[in-house]
Amino acid sequence: MLDYARLAQSVIAGAALTRDQALAVLTSSDADALALFDAAWRVRHHFHGKRVQVQVLSNAKSGLCSEDCHYCSQSCISQAEIARHPLKARDILLAEAREAHRLQARRFCMGLSGRVLKDTEIDALCEAIRRIKAEMGLTLCCSLGFLTPQQAQRLRAAGLERVNHNLNTSERHYPSICTTHAWADRVRNLEVCREAGLEICSGGIVGQGETDEDIVDMLLALRRIGPESIPINFLIPVAGTPFERMETGLTPQRCLKVLALARLLHPAADIRVAGGREVHLRTLQPMALFLANSIFVNGYLTESGQPQDEALRMIADLGFELEVEGAASIEA
Ligand code: SF4
Repeated sequence: MLDYARLAQSVIAGAALTRDQALAVLTSSDADALALFDAAWRVRHHFHGKRVQVQVLSNAKSGLCSEDCHYCSQSCISQAEIARHPLKARDILLAEAREAHRLQARRFCMGLSGRVLKDTEIDALCEAIRRIKAEMGLTLCCSLGFLTPQQAQRLRAAGLERVNHNLNTSERHYPSICTTHAWADRVRNLEVCREAGLEICSGGIVGQGETDEDIVDMLLALRRIGPESIPINFLIPVAGTPFERMETGLTPQRCLKVLALARLLHPAADIRVAGGREVHLRTLQPMALFLANSIFVNGYLTESGQPQDEALRMIADLGFELEVEGAASIEA
């Protein structure tokens, strides 16, 4: 067993986990889990105190995608019964942002399906972003597919702070989950966003038939990219997608170990326990907040999720606190 107390101290002091240590975290026995979670909690507490960020997600443009991401109900090969619609009208996005603001969301996230966006869609999105920023100053993140440098610069100029574009898995495993674009395309897209001055939200989905090495390599690749935010999703095998019968191998303990590893490899980043937390963590969901510091409430793009009032009760029961705009102090 790793000396987890010492590991936590060295991570807080700035040392980076080796690949072998990262693999040992994932293969640790359930009997060692509490020591592992305690180490990850110490790191989480050092960098984020007891604060929890709550995010609200809008499915701003749904389905109709040219890509074949096997996990995604919006792909060109998905038969899933989901809503399919073009980019929502500006007034609808504004109303959703107002509701997110009312719910004390730290960030309003808009997901747009598709490989690329037309410039007319970028025009409409920029206008919605400007209006949301002017009216309520809400912090924003968008998931947008592949951007040109000009599109990324225009969105940044409109006030967008952050772009979500997940690596999803390792470079080795990527052809098993998508064949219409490459893992390297995603890395390049993140570079385009960074060059435009946008913050990066990039993480992955576990439970897609990957190995422990794939999870470690994805998280190590993210260390080279340095995202401000890392969402960890747990595959929901949606009926009508190629992964509907996927044996995810996910148990609550396994999910927590992945979150602990993400925390130890990315100590200062926002680690978000994202899609699938309700399905796979089940009764251990509160444990995830000792490792991660960010959650979605009120559902995901095409799947429902924990209602906001339940999430707030969970946060309060844990003795944690909502992170609000501008909070920067770190508890001793
Ligand atoms: S590019 Fe995005 S919307 Fe399209 S299939 Fe992949 S994950 Fe789904």
